[in-house]
Amino acid sequence: MKTELRTDITVGDICKGFSYNSLEGRGLYGWSGKLTIQPEYQRNYIYANGKDDVAVVDSLLKKYPIGLIYFLKVGDDKYEVLDGQQRITSFGRFVTGQLDVLDANGMPHKFDPAHHAWMLDIPLTIYICEGEGDDPEAEIKDWFRTINIAGKPLNDQELLNATYSGPFVTAAKAVFSNSSNANMQKWKVFVAGDEKRQAVLAKALEWVSKGNVRDYLKDHRYSSDITELTRYFESVIAWIDGVFKGTRSEMCGLEWGRLYETYHAKPYDPDKVWARVESLFADADDGKIQNRRNIFEYVLGGESEKKLLKVRMFSAEIARKVYRRQTEEAKSKGISNCPDCANGHEANAKRIYAFSEMEADHVSAWSRGGDTTEANCQMLCKHHNRVKGNC
Ligand SMILES: [Zn+2]
Repeated sequence: MKTELRTDITVGDICKGFSYNSLEGRGLYGWSGKLTIQPEYQRNYIYANGKDDVAVVDSLLKKYPIGLIYFLKVGDDKYEVLDGQQRITSFGRFVTGQLDVLDANGMPHKFDPAHHAWMLDIPLTIYICEGEGDDPEAEIKDWFRTINIAGKPLNDQELLNATYSGPFVTAAKAVFSNSSNANMQKWKVFVAGDEKRQAVLAKALEWVSKGNVRDYLKDHRYSSDITELTRYFESVIAWIDGVFKGTRSEMCGLEWGRLYETYHAKPYDPDKVWARVESLFADADDGKIQNRRNIFEYVLGGESEKKLLKVRMFSAEIARKVYRRQTEEAKSKGISNCPDCANGHEANAKRIYAFSEMEADHVSAWSRGGDTTEANCQMLCKHHNRVKGNC
């Protein structure tokens, strides 16, 4: 790779012809049309949060350096930003009046040519890189993956997007990384994270590829057809919507891809499903269930996996008290202190178990409204407690 260090290009040079797409929140072009600010393999502009972008402008206003910037030479006097896109977009917006900076008193300041003209003359430190060898593009991309020189480090999906850049990633990002997509708000009820940092795209890929995202991207890289990706994602969302009548914040970020694969072929009555979900959340609010987020999977699975919910346990104090009472009674009657053993005709019908051989059980199951109180507690031998299987 050839590199050339340039220190003669100024903030003003880069801002000539600066264009910014405020709808998509990304810088497009600069440097009199010679520079593409956000090539397809770059992440979306993520400094536009009123802090990071303002910090870049603040640095320039204080005459602090803003760090090395890397351009990739892609043609005759044509360049793409390899690293520095976010910094360039931040100062470009300021200089073109599209970003205000607050002063120490909280007053917004616009770029004022009369006061800030000197800012345009600040020289930047820019490395211009040019790929060489058999596969110059691969060389550059490889290197790009390892730099993360400034700003926020790329996350896994952003790195994958850079590595497998091409028509597929471009088309997929237009749908799944696009905040102005009309479906985005609905999707984010179920998918956690920032779509601008590729969180929704990452989920869509994970779901359709059953976790083999890298292979999936490799196979589809040069195709612009994202039908399978969007269809699968929409099927998962439509399935959630169909089975669950309502939404709750706990639904965000669940493993919906896995749940869809496991349960989507089963029939459900949405009215009953949602009634159970609400009732279990009421139990959770009462402290009977500790793992709230598993309530959805518990209901989908026909309420057989009680372990999912981490149902509240009886305290050792209650269990010991009940054990003592049950054992005294049993001894006086000459029967087992496990009521279920006492009812049987086997060898254990008269067996007195040690405390450590027994488990506390809800007489009236919590799932049918039973409380976790002494009055609703009985001690069973481990065998019978497992057999009962109810909490
Ligand atoms: Zn028993």
